[in-house]
Amino acid sequence: MSDNTVILEVKELHKSFDGHEVLKGISTTIKKGDVLALIGPSGCGKSTFLRSLNLLEIPTAGHVLFEGTDLTDPSVDINHVREKIGMVFQQFNLFPNMTILENIMLAPVKLGKMTKEEANTRAMELLKRIGLADKAGAYPAQLSGGQKQRIAIVRSLAMDPDIILFDEPTSALDPEMVGEVLAVMQELAEDGMTMVVVTHEMGFAREVANRVMFINDGVIQEEGTPQEIFGNPKSQRLQEFLSKVL
Ligand code: ADP
Ligand code: MG
Repeated sequence: MSDNTVILEVKELHKSFDGHEVLKGISTTIKKGDVLALIGPSGCGKSTFLRSLNLLEIPTAGHVLFEGTDLTDPSVDINHVREKIGMVFQQFNLFPNMTILENIMLAPVKLGKMTKEEANTRAMELLKRIGLADKAGAYPAQLSGGQKQRIAIVRSLAMDPDIILFDEPTSALDPEMVGEVLAVMQELAEDGMTMVVVTHEMGFAREVANRVMFINDGVIQEEGTPQEIFGNPKSQRLQEFLSKVL
């Protein structure tokens, strides 16, 4: 699915918190259409890495280039760049005091990307696509976890991003709701969306991702196709990890 357009280039990324080095030099290139699954033990730095990609975490050293722009350059308008980088969190982060429709329309209207009418039309299209058009006037509290997360995904789509970053999007869900969220993500992937997904869903990593990255102790311990990572794990660390999660 991926073509050769580079969306993100990460060069020797380091991140420390209070002198404790969490990311110890990570380099990778993410191309258009890539679906990269990030796996690894709890606390290994997956979220820190993901959040560094849109500078929610400021790298201690190294560079993150988004479509050729070095985000670590202080003169870059990071908010402008973030308009093109969607993010979906474990905890949905919908605005509780706004309706579903208002949640989806907010960013495109506020940032001047669309008129209210355009944003409304687009939001309704997106809601139809995930079968939730009837929830346009509801408030987040009236929705199930799975519905909220599907809304969070289409809310990020409303900005027409070039990449979406997902941090354990199904980890807060009751088991019976995981499938409906993964199905939306799979559709996005099939439509060619570039995605980086921190996940414990090894089925998703195996079936939907075209690349899997195993992070351990702040470094990329192993990276490859799902077939390579799951079918022929090389390092003992990865073998041990997979034996616990599969
Ligand atoms: P993962 O997502 O793989 O579980 P994280 O990236 O959340 O791991 O965390 C990696 C390490 O960095 C952990 O030891 C965590 O405690 C630490 N860490 C993460 N964020 C902060 C922070 N804001 N301040 C201090 N330490 C942090
Ligand atoms: Mg995490």
